[in-house]
Amino acid sequence: MPRLLPGDRSAADPTRAVTLGVMGGGQLGRMFVHAAQQLGFRTAVLEPDATSPAGTVAHVHVNAGYLDAAGLQRLADEADAITTEFENVPADALRTLAARRPVAPSGDAVAVCQDRAAEKAHFTDCGVPVAPYAVIDSEAALAAVGDDLLPGILKTARMGYDGKGQIRVADRAELAAGWAELGGTVCVLEKRLPLAFEVSVLIARGGDGRVVAFPLQQNLHRDGILAVTTVPAPAGTPALEAEAVGCAARIAADLGYVGVLCIEFFILEDGSLVANEMAPRPHNSGHHTIDSCDVSQFDLQVRAMAGLPLVKPRLHSPTVMLNLLGDLWFDAQGAERSPDWAAVLALPGAHLHLYGKESARPGRKMGHLTLTAATPAAARDVALQAAALLGLPAF
Ligand code: ATP
Ligand code: MG
Repeated sequence: MPRLLPGDRSAADPTRAVTLGVMGGGQLGRMFVHAAQQLGFRTAVLEPDATSPAGTVAHVHVNAGYLDAAGLQRLADEADAITTEFENVPADALRTLAARRPVAPSGDAVAVCQDRAAEKAHFTDCGVPVAPYAVIDSEAALAAVGDDLLPGILKTARMGYDGKGQIRVADRAELAAGWAELGGTVCVLEKRLPLAFEVSVLIARGGDGRVVAFPLQQNLHRDGILAVTTVPAPAGTPALEAEAVGCAARIAADLGYVGVLCIEFFILEDGSLVANEMAPRPHNSGHHTIDSCDVSQFDLQVRAMAGLPLVKPRLHSPTVMLNLLGDLWFDAQGAERSPDWAAVLALPGAHLHLYGKESARPGRKMGHLTLTAATPAAARDVALQAAALLGLPAF
């Protein structure tokens, strides 16, 4: 990556300051924009929604669809380097932008992450274990599924997130019905594994191949959506962390990856590690890094795409992150309410992040709350207090 220095004039257009661009206007784009602006970069967001979390805080909002030719031209005019905040931005949009500006991660790397089948094949090529699975793309493939994959989870190969596009199937009849329910689209059937716990690891890889890693993160999901992240991982060990980081580094190197990459892993009851999926961007399980580490996942995304030095992050405070879903904005009768933020902010070490979304819906990620403390036990204690105040289940 060519080096871009914050505060310089753009070499491409000296009438403006060096600008970092991002495809997508969600909360990840918003936190990326905040990190870029803190360093002194100008920012530009391409996003079709007029009032998006990132579009409203960036210097420039290009209000266009992800494949809109004029919109992509405008983003390339405005930005000196471009990244993406979510993996379902069409890879072709990134490839189009790459003809004019450095783009990290590349459209080709993002394309692998957009397809569960390609992603699993890539993990396997890198010597990283995955759950036993079959690709279901035809009636014949459906009929050929081995009984050893049942009970399983049927997942659409593309466009799934937060447990959407997934159906748990116990037997062949449910599998056939599930595939029909998912519209007969290309799916991956995964064997349902006995999970002891779940972890994720975030790495950042520079254009020079240097890799730095954040500490292992332990994740609790509810209804297929991340609910709680705890760092240090209570069930983690140095050996497990080294194994996870090693897998992530191989996966990234093989893709020629530049930027922040997250790999989610299952740890099975027998202690073995299985890769679930990857995200070619900062990740919800890394939001705590803004408050718990001396350099955040968004800072490292900025540095990687700007060709600036990557430094190894240091966790300065044990932490627990609670996701704040739209459900919290409704009472038991379904009437709208506002969570009691004043009570939450009275807790020591509470860092509230709301994404500026205009309306709450059940399951919608509205914000997150990071609790930091001097010890893991204290972070957990204050997080349990926060959960109780908000009406979230204990963990
Ligand atoms: P996101 O992209 O938001 O992380 P997703 O919709 O892509 O979510 P997955 O990560 O595939 O979904 O699965 C969501 C959760 O469902 C996992 O974190 C895990 O708790 C559970 N799960 C998924 N696959 C399996 C499996 N093969 N065996 C057991 N549990 C699973
Ligand atoms: Mg997942």
